[in-house]
Amino acid sequence: MTHASRVCILRVAINTPLRRLFDYLPPPESGGECIYPGQRVLVPFGKNRSVVGLVAEITKTTQVPPRKLKHIVQALDPDPLFKPDHLEFLLWTAQYYQHPPGEVILGNLPQLLRSVKPATPSTTCLWRLTPAGKSLDLNTLKRAPRQQAIIRHLRNHGDGLAPDEIRRDLGDSLPALRALAAKQLVERYPANMVHQHIAAAPTRPIALNQDQERAVNAITSVSGHFQPFLLNGVTGSGKTEVYLRCIEHILSQGRQALVLLPEIGLTPQLLERFTQRLQGRVAVLHSALTATERLRSWFMARDGEAHVIMGTRSALWAPCKHLGIVVVDEEHDPSFKQQDGFRYSARDMALVRARRENIPVVLGSATPSLESMHNVAGGRYLELRLPQRAGGAHPPHIRMMDMRACAVEGALSLPLLEAIRVRLARREQVILFLNRRGYAPVLMCHDCGWTWRCPRCEIQMNYHKQDHKLRCHHCGHEEGRNAHCPGCGGGQIMDIGHGTQRLTETLVRHFPTAGILRIDRDSTRRKGSLQSMMTEIRHGRAAILIGTQILAKGHHFPDVTLAGIIDADRGLYSMDFRASERMGQIIMQVSGRAGRAEKPGEVLIQTYHPDHPLLLPLQQHDYESFTTALLRERKEAMLPPYTHLALLRAEAAGTAGAGKFLQAARSRLPQPAGGIEILGPVASPMEKRAGHYRMQMLLQAQNRNRLRALLDEWVPALEHLPEARRVRWSLDVDPQDLF
Ligand code: ADP
Ligand code: ZN
Ligand code: ZN
Repeated sequence: MTHASRVCILRVAINTPLRRLFDYLPPPESGGECIYPGQRVLVPFGKNRSVVGLVAEITKTTQVPPRKLKHIVQALDPDPLFKPDHLEFLLWTAQYYQHPPGEVILGNLPQLLRSVKPATPSTTCLWRLTPAGKSLDLNTLKRAPRQQAIIRHLRNHGDGLAPDEIRRDLGDSLPALRALAAKQLVERYPANMVHQHIAAAPTRPIALNQDQERAVNAITSVSGHFQPFLLNGVTGSGKTEVYLRCIEHILSQGRQALVLLPEIGLTPQLLERFTQRLQGRVAVLHSALTATERLRSWFMARDGEAHVIMGTRSALWAPCKHLGIVVVDEEHDPSFKQQDGFRYSARDMALVRARRENIPVVLGSATPSLESMHNVAGGRYLELRLPQRAGGAHPPHIRMMDMRACAVEGALSLPLLEAIRVRLARREQVILFLNRRGYAPVLMCHDCGWTWRCPRCEIQMNYHKQDHKLRCHHCGHEEGRNAHCPGCGGGQIMDIGHGTQRLTETLVRHFPTAGILRIDRDSTRRKGSLQSMMTEIRHGRAAILIGTQILAKGHHFPDVTLAGIIDADRGLYSMDFRASERMGQIIMQVSGRAGRAEKPGEVLIQTYHPDHPLLLPLQQHDYESFTTALLRERKEAMLPPYTHLALLRAEAAGTAGAGKFLQAARSRLPQPAGGIEILGPVASPMEKRAGHYRMQMLLQAQNRNRLRALLDEWVPALEHLPEARRVRWSLDVDPQDLF
């Protein structure tokens, strides 16, 4: 029943897994004092608990009986945290992905704003040098080495540093800072007063070539309306240069630019390129920031103090004072999709955001996603092409290595080994791509065929030789390697297949004096290790680089003249419907790393299917024909982008729970579900994971709006199903994979 109310009702988003807002009355003593949407409030929630919420709406009606309505405790901020249209954007995405609005709104705030403290940027006080501190002769602090270190460190950070940044870099320094403050050599000041150094004379831009010029003109001529562009340019064709020109143009209008990059795309080199070229302040947002840094970037974006906001997918949620353009670099990259919790695609939502703000959005890639190619074909995106490498470097020669006809050593064909030898003799570098970490993906008993499987996922475990462990790449379960087969007691245990560790071993055997660097998730786990490896490579200290997809992205290695794809076939024959798209993208991206400078490059692709119709166009650098062929397959299989999918997953400790929940969910589907195929419930392709049994149900629609209408009606009911209490379930709208 709906109750009308004399006073206003505040509908508050709270960080809970419930798909709804919560109704409250204004504080009792407020005397009609206004509270606005976007303001954070402290509200009573559950038993004797107060939590931080954010006012999403103000209404005059409520479903809650008046005597049950509670008052909010207090407003936490004097003003709304962001503009109403940003709030609407957040609510829209929550609705689109059928995700609890509180988790979307509060979960995407900087952590420091999720606590009760007032959210003023001045909560982040920074230390900086006073003029006296700047000109101090460091020798006068000889007997206070810690103070000396602080001064030296602050001289390298002209904008000042937050206390937790100083602690991170130099250890506990508070007493020393206080001592320096007493001598008036350093001072504290609120972060929102930052006046960062703006390059006085930005580096002179390069003269654009014709294709770049055309792209820049097209993008900068858009003003005051929404227009998506696909900047389709081979690696090294000067896409970044195009972004920079367009951003320059936007900044000159006094507006901001939001630049989204893949997880490992935000390198110090790229940041430097941006800060040196642009007349403006750049704020970064990514997962390695401290809480204070994140808060500071967030406020700088919101208050218009940062002109460019650069970051990984979560930067999408930064409010901006007056956004003028959104750029999504390497738009095909899977890391733009969050794969757990709030399963959103930052690429897709960047388009939604741009549409709401009436601004251009540029998706850039050398290997655009099938979705984007399809949108170009349908006239929804404007395609801008950069077909030539800037600076005139030639595209590499791509050669298929027919593994059926080759002698093989380890995972390497003899022609590939020979090609490596030639490059090493010329002091050039080689990249080898193998998307499988560990030593061997399977351990098998020679006598009875027993394989070691993860007891929690029932799939084969990878052997990691470095620490003699068998490891499950899905749940992280690990075991020691026994000397005898648990099946028959036999003692001949074989390593089957090759991971990056084993490939490294093979190469060390063949090229004992060459610098060999393995770059994968295991070898780059320590913070900063990827960066130091990149430095090693640039200084020529590593001749052979072995890597997983980390290597295929955004790094410039001018001395690499040979790229080898160790196993192209995995992508061609996989259960994952996006696997062949990914493999093609990786082949093209890895190829783009070879021979960037004056030195011509070569790519060798090892395959048992050299005549595979998907490999042939790649060999001709014809990514477009490759995508055309794939799109035809997708159309026949009724897969995206020709249909729209939503995947309901469920898992439970017992074998029955997930199925019961999905059956109950299926029986609650609105009737008729016109134009929507329901597939399942069926066991997930990976039936067991981390000890849980998994099932799923797929909804497939030709029309996106039909699917959305159905989800709007159906999903809110699911959380109230009694069967839901015994399972973990999630809905994935526009899933990346169907696992
Ligand atoms: P992408 O982002 O497409 O990989 P970049 O913008 O990084 O390409 O450009 C690749 C290289 O070519 C860079 O070293 C860049 O400085 C250079 N470059 C870009 N545009 C031009 C141009 N018009 N003339 C000469 N060199 C260029
Ligand atoms: Zn055995
Ligand atoms: Zn496992």
